[in-house]
Amino acid sequence: MKLNDVHNRTFKTLRVSLTNTCNLACTYCVNDANYQDQAQNISILSVENLVKIISKINQTLDLQTIRLTGGEPTLYKDIIPLIKSIAQIGPKIKLTTNGFLLKNLVQKLDGNELDSINVSLDALDEDIFFKISKRRSLYKIIEGIDAALAKGIHVKLNCVVIKGVNESQILPILAFAFERKISVRFLEIMKMGHLYADAESLFFSQNDILKVINQKYTFSKMIRSDAATANYWQTSEGNKFGIIANETEPFCGDCNRLRLDSYGNIFGCLSSNTPINITQNIDNEVILEQNLQNAMNQKQDYKFIGSNLSMLEIGG
Ligand code: SAM
Repeated sequence: MKLNDVHNRTFKTLRVSLTNTCNLACTYCVNDANYQDQAQNISILSVENLVKIISKINQTLDLQTIRLTGGEPTLYKDIIPLIKSIAQIGPKIKLTTNGFLLKNLVQKLDGNELDSINVSLDALDEDIFFKISKRRSLYKIIEGIDAALAKGIHVKLNCVVIKGVNESQILPILAFAFERKISVRFLEIMKMGHLYADAESLFFSQNDILKVINQKYTFSKMIRSDAATANYWQTSEGNKFGIIANETEPFCGDCNRLRLDSYGNIFGCLSSNTPINITQNIDNEVILEQNLQNAMNQKQDYKFIGSNLSMLEIGG
């Protein structure tokens, strides 16, 4: 089925949230004031159900990528059988994780199931990392990154820059990435969940990030590829870094992402908080196509407007 909207957008990437829980409690997902320890091992949809839903969506949309995310996807109890089953469907599989349980996970994989892994790394300083995530043991993330690289899996780092909290980490994280020859992207904070009404005090813009990087490096902007989330720059030494600038330079115009949450609801846009449940009629092709069309209709034209759903719920 060719599913397009008026801007000629299609769905090519399916982001699947495996759980709505996490073993970190980062400031941008969870309100520090209401923070409760919430690391649990829960699987809401079974492997069988997830594989069925993903296969049906893929048959309709001919996806390029399936990205497993959450919450924290490595908390999904059956993640290994799930990855191995999804690998049979066809599209590339990518994973977004906080990296805490990554070492253990990659040791159980052959190394060819995952096309790449995005690891969220907001600080290399233990105290700053704790302030953001309410967790210690940052070393586990580094071990996870190195274990994935040792398995030959492509790794990218994502760092959300939070004003007044981790600007000081931009240069150390760049150096860490350059040393390992891995890609790194800095993210502007987004108006999601408890930050929907007020993310301004924490906002550190693309321009602010570039100014910090410019203290140490000279760089030039690269050409943006279609449907990319990040703008990229290349330093004079030939290293690359990216910025995901949802606010400064929204990339809604060619967004090709569809989200599936851990209860079997789809969302066509991060700025939409109206869930469309697809589990009940998953075998009915006509209803599935109508549901996908409804998700497509949720897409904003050109501007990210945010949502009161946290990424924990809708999938990061
Ligand atoms: N637990 C996994 C992880 O940490 O990568 C996957 C899910 S988590 C929601 C994915 C990422 O979404 C976070 O690391 C962060 O980069 C991003 N994120 C979540 N809420 C955000 C916000 N309000 N602004 C910017 N980025 C956010």
